[in-house]
Amino acid sequence: MATHTLDKKTVKSLKQDAFDHPDLYAVDSLLTAEHKLIRSSIRDFVKREISPYIEDWAQRAHFPYEIVKKFGDIGAFGPTIPLEYGGGGLDYISYGLIMQEVERGDSGMRSTASVQGSLVMYPIYKFGSEAQRKKYLPKLGSGEWLGCFGLTEPDHGSNPGGMVTNFKDMGDHYLLNGAKMWISNSPKADVAVVWAKNEEGRIHGLIVERGMPGFSTPETHGKWSLRASATGELVFDNVKVPKENLLPGKSGLGAPMMCLDSARYGIAWGALGAAMDCYDSARRYALERIQFGKPIGSFQLIQKKLAEMLTEITKAQLLNWRLGTLMNEGKATTAQISLAKRNNIEIALDIAREARQIHGGMGITGEYPIMRHMANLESVLTYEGTHDIHLLILGKEITGIQAFV
Ligand SMILES: Cc1cc2nc3c(=O)[nH]c(=O)nc-3n(C[C@H](O)[C@H](O)[C@H](O)COP(=O)(O)OP(=O)(O)OC[C@H]3O[C@@H](n4cnc5c(N)ncnc54)[C@H](O)[C@@H]3O)c2cc1C
Repeated sequence: MATHTLDKKTVKSLKQDAFDHPDLYAVDSLLTAEHKLIRSSIRDFVKREISPYIEDWAQRAHFPYEIVKKFGDIGAFGPTIPLEYGGGGLDYISYGLIMQEVERGDSGMRSTASVQGSLVMYPIYKFGSEAQRKKYLPKLGSGEWLGCFGLTEPDHGSNPGGMVTNFKDMGDHYLLNGAKMWISNSPKADVAVVWAKNEEGRIHGLIVERGMPGFSTPETHGKWSLRASATGELVFDNVKVPKENLLPGKSGLGAPMMCLDSARYGIAWGALGAAMDCYDSARRYALERIQFGKPIGSFQLIQKKLAEMLTEITKAQLLNWRLGTLMNEGKATTAQISLAKRNNIEIALDIAREARQIHGGMGITGEYPIMRHMANLESVLTYEGTHDIHLLILGKEITGIQAFV
């Protein structure tokens, strides 16, 4: 299928996409008119530019590079970064709603936007020099450039502090060596924010640009999850990095962790979007599918599944809204963000599994979004801190004892 041609089946499925935001607790009344406008414009964008094509992209493991510019045009990159630097100048609830709606389309598409905004633009904005902000942020915000974030290494995932990627001060430049693995956007990225140790073992962020000799980004193939997102490695073989590319504002593991807090916040909203899409599809299927002469939605066991889905979605909506207000006030803590990321992905996966059952055999096909969401959410459960690491962050919050070192 050509990437952007609507066939008859797609037109039919677009018409069926009558998504109605579940809102049993009137959470919408907590949103401003601007929030609702942002949500509906992103929803329209996803419905037009992602939903009709995503199944084909995912089946073919194709990353639609043209979406990068489109995301830039609708303001999906760096919504909370000030306007003067090419961001959206919006609050954290707006950011959350954008991630929710994009992930209602697909977690891989949301990953592209999250990485660009929270893991590339955010560190350049927070820790970068004024010259770095001016050079990189407008191009990243507009989607002219795509960025990636290199923290994880082949031998250091949950324990990034053990990283071996390093740089040496050569007088007029730094010499960077090492490798990063599982890096979203890397195969197509123009810019990488890379975390590496200096000669004293202190972690710093460096901006590495495509084309620097010795820098390569081999793609990772064979994923069963986030198939429409490009994932790869970052390999640094004596890469000469100009000294002005070091992020001067913050060093130590706390710097990448601050970026991850911002991205994990977006994930908490995004996972809710995937859950809503599964619920919506299951609710409509339950009303349309006839067995034993009645819609399957008339059977108590199906109603139980739908009732439990809506209950969890409603709780997660309230959690996200409250976390968003704390983010806006600058008061949200790592433990609060871990709780929301962990809870919302878990409920989204449970909802995807229940929705899969409601769809019966059809649930395993690409006719419905369920299996794609379910497989995607397995990555979301693991990246940016695994489900168990977030549990241990909460364990430390409760007991004061760190159990993961
Ligand atoms: C599709 C995808 C995209 C990604 N994108 C990026 C990206 O853009 N940038 C980036 O830097 N990284 C990225 N990652 C990497 C991701 O953040 C890591 O996979 C994650 O942090 C886990 O690391 P690991 O895979 O090495 O697992 P490991 O750390 O090896 O963990 C394996 C298992 O051991 C458990 N475990 C580990 N330590 C402990 C402990 N102390 N106590 C209890 N249990 C423990 C974990 O919970 C897990 O269940 C991505 C990953 C995926 C799958």
